[in-house]
Amino acid sequence: MPNRRSKDYYKILGVDKKATQDEIKKAYRKLAHKYHPDKAQEGEKKQAEEKFKEIAEAYEVLGNSKKRQEYDQGTRFFESGFRPGADFGSGSSSGDFGQFTDIFDLFGMGKRGRSYEAPEKGRDLQYSIQLPFEQAISGASVKINIMREDICSNCKGTGAKPGTFPKNCPTCGGSGQVAQNQGFFSISRPCPQCLGRGVVIENPCPVCRGMGRAKKTEPFMVKIPAGVSDGSRIRFPRKGEAGLRGGPFGDLYIITKVRPHPIFKRDGSNILLDLPITFTEVALGTKVKVPTMNKSVSLKIPAGTQDGQVFRLKGKGAPRLKGLGKGDMLIKIKLVVPKKLSNEEKKLLEMLAEKHKENPRGHLEKFM
Ligand SMILES: [Zn+2]
Ligand SMILES: [Zn+2]
Repeated sequence: MPNRRSKDYYKILGVDKKATQDEIKKAYRKLAHKYHPDKAQEGEKKQAEEKFKEIAEAYEVLGNSKKRQEYDQGTRFFESGFRPGADFGSGSSSGDFGQFTDIFDLFGMGKRGRSYEAPEKGRDLQYSIQLPFEQAISGASVKINIMREDICSNCKGTGAKPGTFPKNCPTCGGSGQVAQNQGFFSISRPCPQCLGRGVVIENPCPVCRGMGRAKKTEPFMVKIPAGVSDGSRIRFPRKGEAGLRGGPFGDLYIITKVRPHPIFKRDGSNILLDLPITFTEVALGTKVKVPTMNKSVSLKIPAGTQDGQVFRLKGKGAPRLKGLGKGDMLIKIKLVVPKKLSNEEKKLLEMLAEKHKENPRGHLEKFM
């Protein structure tokens, strides 16, 4: 009897125990077609995958007359080994499951046995840069030192000792892939000898020990676009760490920290400025000189301007990072009340109060 942990492979393939090898093959092809995950509807993929793997597993045994015989006699332990993390135990001849493992890999379900390591993208790096307020608006080139895993300069990334060269992998002939027949499928997988690189290194580079990467600190000119603000994240593609096993470079991210300005503030692409104004200036109207990011401008304050009123200087803001043009400069009136008055000033104001009978609180009266 088959081991109790084994599945009934005949039932899975829907064939009789007396079926011929040809009948088994036919049944397998039919089912594999039917349950191929590529054909499954979205949402049913997982189920189809499970079923497909079960079918493949059954065929792996029954499709091979020697394994089938052993299965029928229960003389060999066949495990339903398609679950990730299933324990083969030391008693089982795990070598026989190598092919299962390959089907397994096809679905990215994990690896076992002759596992390989695929090329890997290098790590992303993140640095932050402190900028003066003005440079965040005008843009800047900043030199920073980046410490990262880079292509090893001793071997130029080949991983081979200088003067020697990696040679074409004898197993895959340099393609990095080996094809294998799984029933009527032909499956390519990374070559187990060269781990998919296509080359093997006989004399590894002593600096990087054959990895092709080395830690390096290098200056990098970071071009900060005009208009960044505090917390902006700029991506520099492929300027991160070198990939593993020939994988692509990671990305470099620069986060900008913008130092506060003594008088200006930012609100997106707008620049804000508080403009202190005396009572007499707003009451009578005036013209004041106002600093902007480049040169000062003369701003007309009409008579009767109120505290908190905002004047907009179009296009005098910061460049917009995404999109065109520039933001505005927003100038907010801040009424300044004299803290100390001379006797003469006091008398003049008292005269004004006597003359000016306006009641600004009229609208409150009905609530009193
Ligand atoms: Zn090296
Ligand atoms: Zn190879």
